[in-house]
Amino acid sequence: MGGRQDCAVLIAGAGPVGLTLAMDLAWRGIDVCVVELRRRGEPPSPKCNHVSARSMEIFRRLGVAGKLRNAGLPPDYPTDVSYRTSFTGMELSRIPIPCRRDRYDATEGPDVGWPTPEPPHRINQIFLEPILFDHATQMPSLRIMSRTEVASFRQDEKEVVVRLRDLDSGENDEISCQYLIGCDGGRSAIRKAIGAKLVGDAVVQRAQSSFIRAPELIKLQQVAPAWATFSLNPRRSGNVYAIDGRERYVIHNYLRDSEADFDSVDRDWAIRTILGVDDSFDYEILGKEDWYGRRFVADRFRDRRVFIAGDAAHIWVPYAGYGMNAGIADATNLSWLLAAHLNGWAGPSILDAHERERHPITQQVSRFVMDHAEAMAQQRATVPDNIEAPGAEGEAARASLGRQAYDLNVQQYCCSGLNFGSYYENSPIIAHDAEKAPPYAMAEFTPSTVPGCRTPHFCFADGRSLYDAMGPEYTLLRNDPALDVTPLLNAARSAGLPLDLLDIHDAPDAADLYHHKLVISRPDQHVAWRGDAIPTEPVQIVDLISGRY
Ligand SMILES: Cc1cc2nc3c(=O)[nH]c(=O)nc-3n(C[C@H](O)[C@H](O)[C@H](O)COP(=O)(O)OP(=O)(O)OC[C@H]3O[C@@H](n4cnc5c(N)ncnc54)[C@H](O)[C@@H]3O)c2cc1C
Repeated sequence: MGGRQDCAVLIAGAGPVGLTLAMDLAWRGIDVCVVELRRRGEPPSPKCNHVSARSMEIFRRLGVAGKLRNAGLPPDYPTDVSYRTSFTGMELSRIPIPCRRDRYDATEGPDVGWPTPEPPHRINQIFLEPILFDHATQMPSLRIMSRTEVASFRQDEKEVVVRLRDLDSGENDEISCQYLIGCDGGRSAIRKAIGAKLVGDAVVQRAQSSFIRAPELIKLQQVAPAWATFSLNPRRSGNVYAIDGRERYVIHNYLRDSEADFDSVDRDWAIRTILGVDDSFDYEILGKEDWYGRRFVADRFRDRRVFIAGDAAHIWVPYAGYGMNAGIADATNLSWLLAAHLNGWAGPSILDAHERERHPITQQVSRFVMDHAEAMAQQRATVPDNIEAPGAEGEAARASLGRQAYDLNVQQYCCSGLNFGSYYENSPIIAHDAEKAPPYAMAEFTPSTVPGCRTPHFCFADGRSLYDAMGPEYTLLRNDPALDVTPLLNAARSAGLPLDLLDIHDAPDAADLYHHKLVISRPDQHVAWRGDAIPTEPVQIVDLISGRY
């Protein structure tokens, strides 16, 4: 450290959300600096295991999806979800999810055939983050300062001055930036500093989590391994995630309402019961974390030049794999808005759209997830006593619970709605029209060009993805090559708004998905405007979508 430094955007926190935001900003040419408490290479705790298809689409654009896809579980390790009487017990049902080797080619399964160039990926955060970190460090105009804390900040109408503390030397330094973004996790000091309050439901669930090494466990299973294994029995239900497909696992033991606190449950007993092993079985505890599942969304995401995103802005029980993935969606939204302003073609008012767009959709996700958590707690609490009984009676009980577990959980593990259905309503920078977006649901999705929806994806006849063909900024998708769009392109050019033209009429699926002749897709691949003709005043559309309202 030493001497006052400057950057356009300073991000507190190099977790998955801070790194995605930093990479997306740097990809848009913005000078960005990330400050992180951990030392370089220090892994996070093994929390998140699921990267959504939508997040993978974002990583594909940033050039890091391939590296992520090739990491995590072994290529042929089944990424299924299995419901059993215990980890080593009888299987009740299984949700088939293609292993990463087969992910692009698989033809069967509840999350196969989705309209995306990047299907979901099962990888733990301990493998994901180092890949994002390495990729970020190779990007020009992106700096990461490890073992450094954002200690405090002050802002005025021109800048934010941030005080940084070197955690090894204890030295302080100052850095000036245009915008400060708190991606500093659930305990965010930046959220507190801007006076944002978490609003929601205090405790939805309590879980005792253990990260273990157990090299012999894989061989004790009666059925094929799975990525996630749920133990459902009357003694202790819980779930087990395979982390490396060999010897490391994370086990979540959910406390019952009658259990007073974390210490009142014998961790070793609970682990052995969930696994279905006796006292002679050897395992080693690598890490422990006892946590409360809550449903909280900050009442605001911004104070003038300071924003919060990811867990800093919202925390909930990690169902549907949509904690980190919701934060990555925040990052993608905030990145292009900041870049639009900092690159000079949009005024600061465009930034008002971030909270207007992200807050309502985040609230909706938090409620889906809470409802699911309650349904799962109910299922754990009502496992029949005869679930492990031999003979016809036990078999009937297992078939019934297996079916229920499948039906309930296929919604969260194959949640096409959460992946692709998010839309922005009442946005100040979207030209909303009379048609309503399809209903937003966890597990169902209807592609739509209603302004605010994710730009429907298809492949061109040569197999090229629409998203690969679209540039980083606005794209005018034209379904009728005879339509002269020069006035609209000229209006955009005069306003400095970057708008590329892409003809889509010869793509086999475009006609089914695109019922208007023209659609403008935003830099974050959401629809900004659609129509069958150039508007009489094209400049009005250009002004609206770029925040000159
Ligand atoms: C058991 C469990 C399972 C989960 N599974 C999933 C899943 O499958 N899918 C999913 O999407 N989500 C899942 N989640 C949620 C997911 O882990 C989080 O949503 C995600 O880590 C949030 O990322 P983030 O970058 O916002 O915050 P974090 O990952 O918390 O990162 C914040 C970073 O900020 C740094 N920091 C903090 N304060 C400062 C400061 N003052 N200065 C500088 N740096 C600072 C921290 O060191 C940290 O690296 C799970 C969570 C849990 C608990």
